[in-house]
Amino acid sequence: LDRIITLLKSHSEVSRIYSASLENAGRNLIELTSPEQLRVAIGYLIAENNKMRKETNNLQSHLDESHQQIENLRENLEEAEETGMRDPLTALWNRRAFDHMLDLQVETAVKNNTPVCLVLADIDHFKKVNDGFGHLIGDEILRLVAGTISKNVKGRDFVARFGGEEFALILPQTALENALKLAVQIRHQLEIQKWFVSKRNQPVGTITASFGVAQLQLGESKEALTGRADSKLYEAKLAGRNRVAS
Ligand code: GH3
Ligand code: MG
Ligand code: MG
Repeated sequence: LDRIITLLKSHSEVSRIYSASLENAGRNLIELTSPEQLRVAIGYLIAENNKMRKETNNLQSHLDESHQQIENLRENLEEAEETGMRDPLTALWNRRAFDHMLDLQVETAVKNNTPVCLVLADIDHFKKVNDGFGHLIGDEILRLVAGTISKNVKGRDFVARFGGEEFALILPQTALENALKLAVQIRHQLEIQKWFVSKRNQPVGTITASFGVAQLQLGESKEALTGRADSKLYEAKLAGRNRVAS
């Protein structure tokens, strides 16, 4: 922007000089008596005009260049904003993005009087995966679980990594019954999946997860909704894991 301002200032100065020189030439024209003098005066005007045209072209190309630079900066900024909202391991939305989205979806649900559900999922006995196969394989399982969850949602549904081996789904315009169905479907797909780790093609055994599902109640805050989904998740764990509670 500094560069553009400098360019525009300098162009405005050149343009001022050009106008002054045209005015001056105009005044002198009246006093011209011979065709030779007229020829010289017109030659001068043509030369001045060429100079100005060159100057304008120059400004135009600098402005084009600056425009491109601004576009690049804008894209970089958008990318940086997006990166700050993404979980680097799974590429899902991160906790920060989740907090923003839950705020927005609770507000929208209240305003439009539509349902919204929250599903919290936690991988069962994940510590054993890390202990048995190592942290890197644990990471790979987290990515695969994230992929399975993502494949099951569409449209407005929002999937985030809520914490270590916990995931959250915000389901706008979805009533409890349908949120429950979705959680049951994801639970089932995780359970039946054959888990292999890419490098050694090593089987990892069964991976399951427990789910807590809650629909926003009248006058409820997003914290209270999260708390309820979390207690349902806890119930699912207590009841033996690999199940959905609502
Ligand atoms: P539960 O069924 O009660 O949920 O048992 P759990 O073992 O899954 O739960 P716990 O909270 O005891 O352990 C969670 C484990 O998840 C421990 C932690 O090391 C692991 N974990 C959290 N984040 C990551 C991660 O980014 N990568 C890997 N590999 N492991 C992680
Ligand atoms: Mg956990
Ligand atoms: Mg767990």
